[in-house]
Amino acid sequence: MADLRELYQEVILEHSKAPRNYRELATASHRAEGYNPLCGDHFTVYLSVEGDSIRDISFQGFGCAISKASASMMTQSVKGKTRAEAETLFDRFHKLVTGQLANGRRAELGKLAVFSGVSEFPVRVKCATLAWHALHAAMQGKQETVSTE
Ligand code: ZN
Repeated sequence: MADLRELYQEVILEHSKAPRNYRELATASHRAEGYNPLCGDHFTVYLSVEGDSIRDISFQGFGCAISKASASMMTQSVKGKTRAEAETLFDRFHKLVTGQLANGRRAELGKLAVFSGVSEFPVRVKCATLAWHALHAAMQGKQETVSTE
């Protein structure tokens, strides 16, 4: 397990140093800000929704390695998915980082399973889920900043 944990940490660090889809999306149809006052993480998530599917997604802002890596991997995971699929993924991801997802179901999350270790650090759950909360708010068409508090 120690090796796996190191691998997971490497993936998270790599994404936090070189986040994917890190830009403002000029064609965004939806956007929302997420703020985690506990850690200072603050991101804006941009979405381009066409019909029912997320055609493009990006984010910008600043935060700790976990929040940034999570936002980066989230954008990769939900791009091209329908809103319902994205919500299902958020639900599973939330269960993973709060330790409520059975080990046998981690495969359903694909690469996002690297965040399983977060469940051992409850204070980090808000860092890991911040971008997802912003994504959820953006899809709901809410304009105000979502705070994890
Ligand atoms: Zn954080």
